[in-house]
Amino acid sequence: MSSSSLICELARQFYDLGWVTGTGGGLCIREGERVIIAPSGVQKERMTPEQMFTLAMDGTVLERPADPKLKPSECSSLFLTAIRLRNAGAVIHTHSMHAMLATLLFESEFVISEIEMIKGIQGMGYHDRLIVPIIENTARESELAESLQAAIEAYPETQAVLVRRHGVYVWGRDWVHAKTQTECYDYLFRAAVEMRHLGIPTDATKGASDAGISSRPAGQYARR
Ligand SMILES: [Zn+2]
Repeated sequence: MSSSSLICELARQFYDLGWVTGTGGGLCIREGERVIIAPSGVQKERMTPEQMFTLAMDGTVLERPADPKLKPSECSSLFLTAIRLRNAGAVIHTHSMHAMLATLLFESEFVISEIEMIKGIQGMGYHDRLIVPIIENTARESELAESLQAAIEAYPETQAVLVRRHGVYVWGRDWVHAKTQTECYDYLFRAAVEMRHLGIPTDATKGASDAGISSRPAGQYARR
Protein backbone atom coordinates (compact mmCIF):
# COMPACT_ATOMS: atom_id res chain seq x y z
CA MET A 1 0.00 0.00 0.00
CA SER A 2 1.30 3.48 -0.83
CA SER A 3 1.99 5.94 1.98
CA SER A 4 -0.81 8.16 0.62
CA SER A 5 -3.35 5.32 0.88
CA LEU A 6 -2.03 4.37 4.30
CA ILE A 7 -2.44 7.93 5.61
CA CYS A 8 -6.09 7.87 4.48
CA GLU A 9 -6.73 4.49 6.12
CA LEU A 10 -5.04 5.46 9.39
CA ALA A 11 -6.88 8.79 9.47
CA ARG A 12 -10.20 6.92 9.32
CA GLN A 13 -9.12 4.79 12.28
CA PHE A 14 -7.93 7.84 14.19
CA TYR A 15 -11.20 9.61 13.43
CA ASP A 16 -13.09 6.72 15.00
CA LEU A 17 -10.89 7.06 18.11
CA GLY A 18 -11.74 10.77 18.38
CA TRP A 19 -8.16 11.78 17.62
CA VAL A 20 -8.72 13.78 14.41
CA THR A 21 -12.30 15.06 14.48
CA GLY A 22 -13.42 18.49 13.29
CA THR A 23 -10.57 18.55 10.71
CA GLY A 24 -8.04 18.81 13.60
CA GLY A 25 -5.02 16.56 14.06
CA GLY A 26 -3.24 14.62 11.36
CA LEU A 27 -0.27 12.51 10.43
CA CYS A 28 2.61 12.22 8.00
CA ILE A 29 4.81 9.37 6.76
CA ARG A 30 8.40 9.75 5.64
CA GLU A 31 9.76 8.01 2.55
CA GLY A 32 13.53 8.48 2.58
CA GLU A 33 14.12 12.21 2.11
CA ARG A 34 10.47 12.91 1.22
CA VAL A 35 7.49 13.33 3.53
CA ILE A 36 3.91 12.48 2.52
CA ILE A 37 1.54 14.82 4.28
CA ALA A 38 -2.22 15.43 4.31
CA PRO A 39 -3.90 18.70 3.30
CA SER A 40 -5.03 21.31 5.83
CA GLY A 41 -8.63 21.83 6.97
CA VAL A 42 -10.23 18.76 5.42
CA GLN A 43 -12.40 16.05 6.95
CA LYS A 44 -9.73 13.59 8.02
CA GLU A 45 -11.93 10.49 7.64
CA ARG A 46 -12.80 11.30 4.01
CA MET A 47 -9.37 12.10 2.57
CA THR A 48 -8.25 10.38 -0.65
CA PRO A 49 -4.68 9.50 -1.75
CA GLU A 50 -4.95 12.07 -4.57
CA GLN A 51 -5.20 14.87 -1.96
CA MET A 52 -1.77 14.22 -0.41
CA PHE A 53 1.25 16.52 -0.67
CA THR A 54 4.88 15.43 -0.93
CA LEU A 55 7.36 17.72 0.85
CA ALA A 56 11.15 17.78 0.95
CA MET A 57 12.79 17.69 4.39
CA ASP A 58 13.11 21.49 4.32
CA GLY A 59 9.38 21.92 3.66
CA THR A 60 9.62 22.58 -0.09
CA VAL A 61 6.53 21.23 -1.87
CA LEU A 62 7.71 18.56 -4.36
CA GLU A 63 4.31 17.28 -5.43
CA ARG A 64 0.87 18.72 -4.82
CA PRO A 65 -2.70 17.60 -5.48
CA ALA A 66 -4.54 18.83 -8.56
CA ASP A 67 -7.13 20.72 -6.48
CA PRO A 68 -5.70 24.28 -6.23
CA LYS A 69 -7.70 25.02 -3.06
CA LEU A 70 -5.75 22.47 -1.01
CA LYS A 71 -2.82 23.56 1.17
CA PRO A 72 -0.36 21.36 3.11
CA SER A 73 -1.29 20.61 6.73
CA GLU A 74 -0.84 23.43 9.27
CA CYS A 75 1.24 20.87 11.19
CA SER A 76 3.82 20.54 8.42
CA SER A 77 6.58 22.53 10.11
CA LEU A 78 6.00 20.64 13.39
CA PHE A 79 6.06 17.28 11.67
CA LEU A 80 9.28 18.20 9.88
CA THR A 81 10.84 19.39 13.15
CA ALA A 82 10.26 15.98 14.78
CA ILE A 83 11.47 14.17 11.67
CA ARG A 84 14.68 16.21 11.45
CA LEU A 85 15.54 16.19 15.16
CA ARG A 86 14.59 12.56 15.87
CA ASN A 87 15.00 10.92 12.50
CA ALA A 88 11.33 9.94 12.80
CA GLY A 89 9.67 7.85 10.10
CA ALA A 90 6.18 9.08 10.94
CA VAL A 91 4.54 11.70 13.15
CA ILE A 92 0.98 11.70 14.50
CA HIS A 93 -0.84 14.72 15.92
CA THR A 94 -4.08 14.14 17.81
CA HIS A 95 -6.71 16.37 19.36
CA SER A 96 -7.65 13.48 21.64
CA MET A 97 -9.80 14.55 24.58
CA HIS A 98 -7.55 12.49 26.86
CA ALA A 99 -4.41 14.33 25.75
CA MET A 100 -6.09 17.74 25.99
CA LEU A 101 -7.45 17.07 29.50
CA ALA A 102 -4.10 15.65 30.64
CA THR A 103 -2.46 19.01 29.86
CA LEU A 104 -4.79 20.64 32.41
CA LEU A 105 -3.63 18.37 35.24
CA PHE A 106 0.07 19.21 35.11
CA GLU A 107 2.22 22.34 34.84
CA SER A 108 5.18 21.80 32.52
CA GLU A 109 5.49 18.00 32.57
CA PHE A 110 3.01 15.15 32.42
CA VAL A 111 4.25 12.44 34.80
CA ILE A 112 3.00 8.90 35.34
CA SER A 113 4.57 5.76 36.78
CA GLU A 114 3.81 2.10 37.51
CA ILE A 115 1.28 1.52 34.74
CA GLU A 116 1.87 -1.45 32.42
CA MET A 117 1.32 0.56 29.22
CA ILE A 118 4.44 2.66 29.97
CA LYS A 119 6.36 -0.33 28.54
CA GLY A 120 4.96 0.51 25.10
CA ILE A 121 7.04 3.70 24.98
CA GLN A 122 10.55 3.37 23.55
CA GLY A 123 13.21 2.93 26.20
CA MET A 124 10.71 2.71 29.08
CA GLY A 125 10.11 -0.10 31.56
CA TYR A 126 7.37 -0.62 34.11
CA HIS A 127 9.48 0.91 36.89
CA ASP A 128 10.41 4.05 34.93
CA ARG A 129 8.69 7.42 35.40
CA LEU A 130 7.25 8.52 32.07
CA ILE A 131 7.61 12.27 31.55
CA VAL A 132 6.08 14.16 28.62
CA PRO A 133 6.89 17.88 28.25
CA ILE A 134 3.94 20.26 27.89
CA ILE A 135 4.31 23.37 25.73
CA GLU A 136 1.89 26.30 25.67
CA ASN A 137 -0.57 26.63 22.80
CA THR A 138 -0.38 29.40 20.21
CA ALA A 139 -3.09 31.02 18.09
CA ARG A 140 -1.79 29.33 14.96
CA GLU A 141 -0.50 25.77 14.78
CA SER A 142 2.50 26.72 12.64
CA GLU A 143 3.76 29.05 15.43
CA LEU A 144 4.30 26.05 17.72
CA ALA A 145 7.36 24.79 15.83
CA GLU A 146 9.89 26.78 17.86
CA SER A 147 8.64 25.62 21.27
CA LEU A 148 8.22 22.05 19.99
CA GLN A 149 11.86 22.10 18.92
CA ALA A 150 12.95 23.46 22.31
CA ALA A 151 11.00 20.71 24.12
CA ILE A 152 12.44 17.96 21.93
CA GLU A 153 15.96 19.26 22.62
CA ALA A 154 15.34 19.62 26.37
CA TYR A 155 13.89 16.08 26.65
CA PRO A 156 16.17 13.94 24.50
CA GLU A 157 14.38 10.70 25.51
CA THR A 158 10.82 11.82 24.86
CA GLN A 159 8.77 10.36 22.04
CA ALA A 160 5.97 12.91 22.43
CA VAL A 161 5.20 16.54 23.27
CA LEU A 162 1.85 17.68 24.69
CA VAL A 163 0.36 21.05 23.73
CA ARG A 164 -1.71 22.77 26.44
CA ARG A 165 -5.48 22.81 25.81
CA HIS A 166 -4.80 21.35 22.38
CA GLY A 167 -3.43 17.80 21.95
CA VAL A 168 -0.23 15.84 21.43
CA TYR A 169 2.50 15.17 18.86
CA VAL A 170 3.97 11.65 18.85
CA TRP A 171 6.59 10.22 16.52
CA GLY A 172 8.25 6.86 15.88
CA ARG A 173 10.85 5.13 13.73
CA ASP A 174 8.11 4.15 11.26
CA TRP A 175 4.33 4.48 11.05
CA VAL A 176 3.69 1.32 13.08
CA HIS A 177 5.92 2.56 15.89
CA ALA A 178 4.35 6.03 15.80
CA LYS A 179 0.85 4.52 15.87
CA THR A 180 1.46 2.06 18.69
CA GLN A 181 3.22 4.68 20.80
CA THR A 182 0.34 7.10 20.23
CA GLU A 183 -2.03 4.37 21.44
CA CYS A 184 0.05 3.84 24.59
CA TYR A 185 0.33 7.57 25.30
CA ASP A 186 -3.39 8.04 24.79
CA TYR A 187 -4.14 5.20 27.19
CA LEU A 188 -1.80 6.77 29.78
CA PHE A 189 -3.32 10.26 29.34
CA ARG A 190 -6.77 8.79 29.85
CA ALA A 191 -5.56 6.78 32.84
CA ALA A 192 -4.08 9.93 34.40
CA VAL A 193 -7.29 11.91 33.95
CA GLU A 194 -9.38 9.14 35.49
CA MET A 195 -6.88 8.50 38.31
CA ARG A 196 -6.94 12.17 39.27
CA HIS A 197 -10.73 12.08 39.15
CA LEU A 198 -10.61 9.21 41.65
CA GLY A 199 -8.07 11.03 43.81
CA ILE A 200 -5.26 8.61 42.91
CA PRO A 201 -1.81 10.16 42.32
CA THR A 202 -0.45 9.41 38.85
CA ASP A 203 3.16 9.31 39.97
CA ALA A 204 3.41 6.35 42.32
CA THR A 205 7.14 6.95 42.88
CA LYS A 206 6.50 10.50 44.05
CA GLY A 207 3.55 9.41 46.17
CA ALA A 208 5.65 6.72 47.80
CA SER A 209 8.38 9.15 48.80
CA ASP A 210 5.99 11.92 49.86
CA ALA A 211 3.55 10.00 51.95
CA GLY A 212 4.15 6.28 51.77
CA ILE A 213 1.10 6.05 49.52
CA SER A 214 2.28 3.07 47.51
CA SER A 215 2.17 0.86 50.59
CA ARG A 216 -1.46 1.70 51.33
CA PRO A 217 -4.29 -0.53 50.14
CA ALA A 218 -5.73 0.79 46.88
CA GLY A 219 -9.06 1.69 48.47
CA GLN A 220 -7.46 4.40 50.56
CA TYR A 221 -6.50 6.46 47.52
CA ALA A 222 -10.08 7.55 47.01
CA ARG A 223 -10.20 9.27 50.41
CA ARG A 224 -7.48 11.79 49.62
ZN1 LIG B 1 -3.68 20.63 16.29
